[in-house]
Amino acid sequence: MVHLSAVAMRKLREWAARRHAIEASFKVGASARLAELCADVGAKEAIDACWSFRQGLEGFPVIRLRARGALQLQCQRCLSPLVWPIELDSQLTAVGSENEIREVASPYDTVIAGPDGLMLGTILEDEILISLPMAPVHSQCEVVRESRPEAAPGLSRPLAGLGALMRQSRD
Ligand SMILES: [Zn+2]
Repeated sequence: MVHLSAVAMRKLREWAARRHAIEASFKVGASARLAELCADVGAKEAIDACWSFRQGLEGFPVIRLRARGALQLQCQRCLSPLVWPIELDSQLTAVGSENEIREVASPYDTVIAGPDGLMLGTILEDEILISLPMAPVHSQCEVVRESRPEAAPGLSRPLAGLGALMRQSRD
């Protein structure tokens, strides 16, 4: 997504020691994983992001991830566009290997930098995706579903005969 190269553990430690911070602004379209969730118009929306580094209690670098912006999702009730505000503020502890996770008090908020380093864009994408609801809906959705479409007369039911067909093919 954001054009940031992988950051090695050594560098993360150095940034944590001097409380370094990186700010970036990117279009939703720059992230394939976020753009996939959004309508075409939503790809032009900007997200402001910040990664700030400090040393954690266990001696590992802690990364505070912040992001502000909006995603153009689709309401899962009425299927019309839904602007979902992004206001992310979370913290992750970076460790160098799986073994080091045991040394951290909250292992669920841990990322492994590994030999290739840590992709700052990817961990931000991950946190944004985790923050989204499974089925976003308008807080005041206009549409009231009166009846289930398959119960309405005159509608085609392309899968109606499927069960019978499957039974036949098994014979
Ligand atoms: Zn809706």
